[in-house]
Amino acid sequence: MSADAAPMNLFSLDRAGLEAFFLAHGEKAFRARQVMKWAYHAGVLDFDEMTDLSKRQRDRLREIAVFGLPEVASRHESRDGTVKWAMRVGNGNCVETVLIPERGRNTLCVSSQVGCMLDCSFCSTGKQGFNGNLDAADIIGQVWLANRELAERGEAVTNVVLMGMGEPLLNFDNVLVATNLMMEDLAFGLSKRRVTVSTAGVVPGIYRLAETTDLALAISLHAPNDALRDQLVPINRKYPIAQLLDACRHYLAGLGPHRSLTMEYTLLKGVNDSQEHARELAELLRDVRCKINLIPFNPFPASGYERPDADAVRDFQTYLLNAGYATMLRTTRGDDINAACGQLVGQVQDRTRRQARYIARLQSQEVA
Ligand code: SAH
Repeated sequence: MSADAAPMNLFSLDRAGLEAFFLAHGEKAFRARQVMKWAYHAGVLDFDEMTDLSKRQRDRLREIAVFGLPEVASRHESRDGTVKWAMRVGNGNCVETVLIPERGRNTLCVSSQVGCMLDCSFCSTGKQGFNGNLDAADIIGQVWLANRELAERGEAVTNVVLMGMGEPLLNFDNVLVATNLMMEDLAFGLSKRRVTVSTAGVVPGIYRLAETTDLALAISLHAPNDALRDQLVPINRKYPIAQLLDACRHYLAGLGPHRSLTMEYTLLKGVNDSQEHARELAELLRDVRCKINLIPFNPFPASGYERPDADAVRDFQTYLLNAGYATMLRTTRGDDINAACGQLVGQVQDRTRRQARYIARLQSQEVA
């Protein structure tokens, strides 16, 4: 790269990428280690402060590289301690990131795309349409910024879930670089059990993931049969449940006998929350090693769905527990700041016209 090319954002390179970058510039590969310790462990992004580099090296780095972060556009803190940031990622787009502190854990929910292409019927992100993929720097930048805020009170991000805006497996390469950095000792050093990719069911992505890593995988299932799942999670029409569960079993084979997947199931009143649905779900998952995470629907304007009553939620959970499944109820966090699952919307310069259709629907309901 010549000095006048656009500077390389070093947040978009994992350790192997950074080593290659330094080698390509006639430097030793171990410079990657030095620079990573500064950026990720010491929180220093200004090359001039990286005192174990020579003056010449620092000057050269300043010409060809940068550690560039998304810009925080807003920060809201919920009554329950949940924090939601909107982060500017360029071209007028913002994505949202949510920090969920609980019992000695700090779970960060990270976005992987600007909007989402998949348009699951009960998810507000889908209604915003889609603009594009985040690059790896914008994904890991969300973790860096949250971690810096936590560091001020002597804490750190302990878990990352790719459950913010977007479908991570449709932005595979960038997500892979970012998750490598999450798990890299010279960066965030999280164990593979504490980094979770969540997918609506991009089957080829699951096979590809199995080839490259063994981090934790969550599947947004939401329905126990194809007829219903086709309506709720439209990508099911392309990759139906049988194919999805085959991919899950393949991924599980790479995790070894002691780890399992997470099945996410958003409970929608009168849609997928009956005892019959619970029975069908228990039957369906019999030979897939998994925990089940129930998420009572989080409402948003003109969604057309409702959250089931507490009794129905409890009965659904009880059925699955009795059927032998570890079944958690995901408690709603941060809903007073619209930071709960399915409520992340950011600011999407939509390229699909879906946002316009959603706004028209909202307006017609207001008039009605
Ligand atoms: N696209 C990925 C990552 C998003 S994860 C995926 O689908 O897995 C966000 C989780 O919250 C998904 O399981 C999603 O289906 C669920 N969700 C979306 N909207 C919701 C809502 N309004 N209430 C509760 N859960 C919702």
